[in-house]
Amino acid sequence: MPIFPYDGAGVMVPCGAMLYGGPGRTHHHFFHWNTVSELLVSWGTNEAMIPTGSLMATQPFHGVNSFLRDETKEGTFALVTITQRQSSEAGQSEALTAKCAKCKKDLVKFEYGSAPEGAPDHDPNAFGDETDVFPQFSTQWGGVEFVRIRNSDDVRVCANCGHENEIFDLRPWGWDRLVGQTRVSNAAFHALAGSAKEVLG
Ligand SMILES: [Zn+2]
Repeated sequence: MPIFPYDGAGVMVPCGAMLYGGPGRTHHHFFHWNTVSELLVSWGTNEAMIPTGSLMATQPFHGVNSFLRDETKEGTFALVTITQRQSSEAGQSEALTAKCAKCKKDLVKFEYGSAPEGAPDHDPNAFGDETDVFPQFSTQWGGVEFVRIRNSDDVRVCANCGHENEIFDLRPWGWDRLVGQTRVSNAAFHALAGSAKEVLG
């Protein structure tokens, strides 16, 4: 999740990610493509593939998983930030790709424009509503849409080899929670503003 509610054109956006293991936990694996640069800083990890205190400049197209050696093991964790710099020019976009666990062919590639506020191709209704006071962050919105498509029966059953891929579990990632809570925060702001108008005139 973005740590600060600022994600306009040219802005540096540090996003926090907390990954941890436990019985039955699975984060699956997907690929993220982003036209803007991302820098990962690992603030503290235990039994993870990223050592504590390391920096990593990711490739524009990179694999994402929990980075834990054994994600079903209690006590394993990775606390990282991923900072991206928002574009000031047109064309910022990203994509999420899922591959078949068996034959490794693409199941789905979900690509979308993620132009920030202030960029020439920004769409204020792309991820939320133009009246929002708290912005929906493009990557969380994209993650929720991606998983909805990825888990549909048409996509989950591989067109190439017929393998029935497991349901992608959104719970360890929590993108849907952040999208839902941001939506409610905006609605609550408007509810209060509306009520104040009624009461105070
Ligand atoms: Zn397959």
